[in-house]
Amino acid sequence: MATVNTYIVKKWNLDVLFPGFDSPELQAAFDNVEEQVASFEGLRDKLKPDMDAETFLEAVRASEATSRIVNRIFAFAGLLFSEDTQNQNAQTLIARAQQFAAEMQNRTLFFSLWWKELDDSNAERLMAGSGDYRYYLEEMRHFKPHTLSEAEEKIVNIKDVTGMGALIPLYDALTNRYTFKLEVDGEVKELTRAQLQPYIQGPDPNLRAKAYQELYRVFGEDGPILGQMYQARARDWHNENINLRKFSSAMAVRNLANDVPDEAVDALLEVTKKNSKIFQRYFKMKAKFIGMDKLRRYDIYAPVAKSDKAFEFDTAANMVLESFSAFDPKLGELARRVFDQDRLDSEIRKGKQGGAFCASINPEDTPFVMMNYTGRARDVATLAHELGHAIHAMLAAHHTAFTFHSSLPLAETASTFGEMMLTEKLLAEETDESVRRDILFKQMDDAFATILRQVYFALFEREAHALVMKNASVDEISAAYMENLKEQFGDSLELSDEFKWEWVSIPHIYHTPFYVYAYAFGQLLVFSLYQQFKAEGESFKPKYLKILSAGGSKAPADILGEAGIDIRSPKFWQGGFDVLSKMVDELEKL
Ligand SMILES: [Zn+2]
Repeated sequence: MATVNTYIVKKWNLDVLFPGFDSPELQAAFDNVEEQVASFEGLRDKLKPDMDAETFLEAVRASEATSRIVNRIFAFAGLLFSEDTQNQNAQTLIARAQQFAAEMQNRTLFFSLWWKELDDSNAERLMAGSGDYRYYLEEMRHFKPHTLSEAEEKIVNIKDVTGMGALIPLYDALTNRYTFKLEVDGEVKELTRAQLQPYIQGPDPNLRAKAYQELYRVFGEDGPILGQMYQARARDWHNENINLRKFSSAMAVRNLANDVPDEAVDALLEVTKKNSKIFQRYFKMKAKFIGMDKLRRYDIYAPVAKSDKAFEFDTAANMVLESFSAFDPKLGELARRVFDQDRLDSEIRKGKQGGAFCASINPEDTPFVMMNYTGRARDVATLAHELGHAIHAMLAAHHTAFTFHSSLPLAETASTFGEMMLTEKLLAEETDESVRRDILFKQMDDAFATILRQVYFALFEREAHALVMKNASVDEISAAYMENLKEQFGDSLELSDEFKWEWVSIPHIYHTPFYVYAYAFGQLLVFSLYQQFKAEGESFKPKYLKILSAGGSKAPADILGEAGIDIRSPKFWQGGFDVLSKMVDELEKL
């Protein structure tokens, strides 16, 4: 019997959202939102402190119904853009959707403003019967101290369309069309960023250095412009959130949106800083394993085994699905839906957005996953990671469109856990000692990339935002970035000058300021959960699935509190580092 590849590298199918950029269905969606908004405006006079709970709930339901359509329009525009950042139709549609959403939001603003102003006892009365909407309604009220007048909020919305709403896609369009030249085996290749990545993390030390130098040569050439964009991002963040909305700090804005107490985030950052020595010790040890006296920054992700095993996509897909099913058959089944419904874009194309993501649109929709599959072990891990996200959303599908989406700090739980399940499977099946060693080292490399690296990005963001407000030049910000790297790595490796441009190549700090600490949060949390899993076995599973299926229907501290985790406690975070420290001890013994 011939073997058939069930899963192949291909583009996703966005037709289920809308059949096309010009389709009547898409136009109808815009019209539909407009009609619903017009009818919602009729509620304005009915909003009274003593209004009855049912009328209030009807308004919330109506607003959710409208959000669902808007979510679909935005998802379609965003996915179309990410599959080809040079697609003019996609770019136009994003701008159109933003303009439209801002106008619609302005017409319905009165509702959230009224809700935030409402006295506590009536708010409590109206929330009592609101079921799954409750957390959404509570969350809105958290923002009361930072809310402006209706007229001011309207201006912010409409100016954002042509402000950050325009600048950030411009950053994406510019950086995603970069190509990189690299001489491989005497031949100069022109590569996308995704295609350059395997050389950056590859076995050849010379190519690693050259690939990194080329990466930051290209970004550095536009460094002053990209840096200027970042300055605008940081100023805008400051002007709006600190000057107008009176947040206490640039990071506090994200913390409130994440509904995580500032003290929990501070504990995470401080404990991580204190533990940077674990990674420095790891780098010094890794140098020996790859035959160097000292690592260069280029060598952090170098494989310790010489093998550069490639995985066919079909093999990769099956490995991931099997590892999920081994934990719980339901997880494998959910992940399979992403393939079966053509929601995965794994192909490499010029102009396609780099990296990987999972987009969950509405609770009833199977999420869309984007990645650039090059066949390396790391890509298999990425597949597990993104499908983990998809599973998380699908497990929370019984919540509303406002509450199924987990907040950022918990957003990396299922994804990271998914990677751990895959690693477990790989280790269990691999008999070649050198490959096993490589897997264990990769686990530490990934821990570095998701914990230390991301926390230092967050520390850098904090500093860079402050520097911008002190009128620092792009070069001064780059210098601060180099200082950040020196503190991060200590004397554990050689750092070369071109890394001063790394920060302008990190989309997260442009897209979603202070997003990055969520990765460290997720990874450390998962270490702790995985320890529990190892200790408790089967009885752990329902507890874990409960965390995931809560989605974003409660505060992260509450969801985790129920599982016995206290995120305010430095001891909890230290626990994650103790696991890492032991992993380094184990590797030293090899
Ligand atoms: Zn993720």
